[in-house]
Amino acid sequence: MDDCIFCKIIKGEIPSKKIFEDDEFLAFHDVNPQAPLHFLVIPKRHIPNIMETAEADAGLLGRLLFRSQKIAAGLGFGEKGARFVINCKADGGQTVDHLHCHVLGGRSLQWPPG
Ligand code: AMP
Repeated sequence: MDDCIFCKIIKGEIPSKKIFEDDEFLAFHDVNPQAPLHFLVIPKRHIPNIMETAEADAGLLGRLLFRSQKIAAGLGFGEKGARFVINCKADGGQTVDHLHCHVLGGRSLQWPPG
């Protein structure tokens, strides 16, 4: 999508602090971190949000979460844990309309979120 900032990050048109990349996903540090560790994992295919996925995307969604935990574990958060979050649309607090999984760690997070 031409006007999607995450698609621009994938294409290298906007810089990012990249953590991981393969054919399907890109992971990079959030520009406005809410915890000592805060990165995003995004599919390279433009999917606006999790509500706009289909049965055929079930594998991609599973791999998105699996990749997120592998990266977090690789960064040393396997023992203490982290939070894996997917915001969706207005009530879910989504601000960038390209599916992404937040991974936050390095501090004790509260529940419920505000
Ligand atoms: P959400 O509110 O769930 O849509 O999350 C979007 C996230 O993208 C926010 O945490 C932003 O800080 C982050 N973000 C926006 N622009 C950039 C960027 N250029 N590089 C890295 N993270 C970004």
